[in-house]
Amino acid sequence: MKNIGIDIGGTFIKAAIVEGRGKIVLSSKTPTPKNGQEIPKKVIEIIEELTGKAKIDISEIKSVGIGVPGVCDTKKGTIVNCPNIENCKSIEICKCISQRFGVDAYIDNDANCAALGEYTVSDMKSESFVFVTLGTGVGGGIILGGRLLRGINSAAGEVGHIVIKQNGERCNCGRRGCWERYASVTALVRQAKEAGFTGNVSGRSIFADRAKGNKKADEVIKQWLEYVAEGICDMVNIFQPEEIVIGGGISREGNIILEPVAEFAQKYSIKDTNSKRNTKIRISKLFNDAGVVGASFLYTQN
Ligand SMILES: [Zn+2]
Repeated sequence: MKNIGIDIGGTFIKAAIVEGRGKIVLSSKTPTPKNGQEIPKKVIEIIEELTGKAKIDISEIKSVGIGVPGVCDTKKGTIVNCPNIENCKSIEICKCISQRFGVDAYIDNDANCAALGEYTVSDMKSESFVFVTLGTGVGGGIILGGRLLRGINSAAGEVGHIVIKQNGERCNCGRRGCWERYASVTALVRQAKEAGFTGNVSGRSIFADRAKGNKKADEVIKQWLEYVAEGICDMVNIFQPEEIVIGGGISREGNIILEPVAEFAQKYSIKDTNSKRNTKIRISKLFNDAGVVGASFLYTQN
């Protein structure tokens, strides 16, 4: 059985035909239209191209799932508003796709899709699962009892906006001191600049400097990882999930990120000290493919 996953980003639309438990048959990457209202037409073109190249008839596709970088209505199948794409408001995208191809179409926000992707490829078969992605901001998705936690406006799981420092750094959401202002890659870069790093500083460059033995880079990363760990520990205390996955491009650094964060969470989370059961924390398996793979599994949630 095959499904199509579409991951709409501010710059590119990624698409993939996915089969089994997350195997990508064929994928593509297309620039996102400047005018958001043109997205349904573009997505239809992408699906035609992809199935054409893969020599797959549309009747072999069970469903199409779409991830969007903003607010959507999962019940109506509409994009409500994507602030990073111009004129991307009130779009009946699922209806357009269903009518064109005669398949079921589903929608959710990109972080929920990524969470669902990582959840589906996990070997643990856990019932409770939290996904946290470290990038420009800190995003997340929560799965409880095998179901995505969507909340009353399909906007639950915005873990980046828990406040870890009252009157701290100002956040785009209107409050101050949100976790993402300290634990995102954007924050890591800011912290490095505050420590005296100049020029083209990126998350990758700071980790590269650390690997070369730069002490200042090591200190900056240690401090940043404490911020990451504070929030992860909150996730353990609130949900006590079987599994937490850390994703985003920076998670490719692997154990350098995972070990100190897991150690912190293990030390400070509330638990029965006699129990051997602990939340397992691991790094993403899908990295940049989590969004498309997860979108292709949206049919399991509807
Ligand atoms: Zn915020």
